Amino acid sequence: MEITVDICVHNSENITKNKTLKINSNLAKNGKLDTSHLIAYPPFINSHDHLIGNWFPKAGDGKIYQNVEEWVEDMKFSDSFLERNKIWINDGKFDLTDENADLIIQLGIYKNIFSGCAIVQDHIPKQKSTYYQNNSIKVLKNYTQCHSISMGNWWGGEDAKTESKNANGKMPFVVHLAEGKDKTAKKSFAKLENMGLLQPNTLLIHCIALTENEIKKCAKNGTSICWCPESNFYLIGKTLDVNSCLKHNVNVVLGTDSTMSGSFNLFEEFKYIKHCLPQVPAKKLFEMITINAQKALMLDESLGVLNNQTANLLLLPKKVEDPFENLLHCDINDIELFIYNGIPLYGNTRFLDNFDLDLKNYYQFGNKFVIGHPEKILATIKAKLGYKKSFPFLPI
Ligand SMILES: [Zn+2]
Repeated sequence: MEITVDICVHNSENITKNKTLKINSNLAKNGKLDTSHLIAYPPFINSHDHLIGNWFPKAGDGKIYQNVEEWVEDMKFSDSFLERNKIWINDGKFDLTDENADLIIQLGIYKNIFSGCAIVQDHIPKQKSTYYQNNSIKVLKNYTQCHSISMGNWWGGEDAKTESKNANGKMPFVVHLAEGKDKTAKKSFAKLENMGLLQPNTLLIHCIALTENEIKKCAKNGTSICWCPESNFYLIGKTLDVNSCLKHNVNVVLGTDSTMSGSFNLFEEFKYIKHCLPQVPAKKLFEMITINAQKALMLDESLGVLNNQTANLLLLPKKVEDPFENLLHCDINDIELFIYNGIPLYGNTRFLDNFDLDLKNYYQFGNKFVIGHPEKILATIKAKLGYKKSFPFLPI
């Protein structure tokens, strides 16, 4: 299949006009697709989520905390957390392959599908291999992790040093750092550095309390930082010093965090950033969810870019001429077509005829289709709760 688009964003430095792309898909029928009014992007990469935490509304009593540890205690008594407990209770084993946990995990996966994310880094203790298989999008399997430098690996896994060593420089080592503004948060960078964890394969999540000098050290060591602004402002009332990160060329990536503290999706995150920190260029934001994430998560070079022949594609309408600014004007309902690994995952039903699909494997609503059956997940959750539960990050 060939498609012609108005603008093609191969990567942040290579943009072409009136471009024809070849779609590598066993499901695509031969022929040309007229998408001449659309912009083609590589699908997005969400570098920080907790799929099991995608419940609604946000947890906590809405106050601003000094550090995340205080929120974790309050969260356990929040209505949202207690309601989620009716579906799945963490018995300490953190086995998310349990079928009740899987219901919530699927909500998180759909949150990402509906917002054009083909890859998500799910920060949790390493799961059984089945957890990472048979998902419509890529839930990153190759990583090691620690919950945080301040709280250690309380939720499972080895200590931070061992986990980092186990990554052997070949996969990302993911850890929350400095998610707060008190003394503990301010000391955590030095602690990480003294442990020898400031490595090129380390992905630090949040880093709210980092000084400019500490940020410079991340740049020098090639350590990546994941920025989750909405989650940070909600919990701590403050976020990463992103201006210093950009000034010193830190590899910054973007994450939604879970909806219990963060945004609904990356489109919401863009709008939030535009509102709170309008000085951050849209082009930089695009890099954070594509090429920077490819580097931080040590992904294949075909991900986070759009090649002339591709099995991965995201088509959005052109609302403004600049394709990066355009992202700030789009939301999940605007996605015209999202293909990953040659499989159409979400989009406008007018494209269904261009693929040989078993439509039993798709759910259609309004003028949209999506892979699988999220409506059945919602029906099962309704049956378990005894009432209908809506999740605003799902457009069904
Ligand atoms: Zn997190």
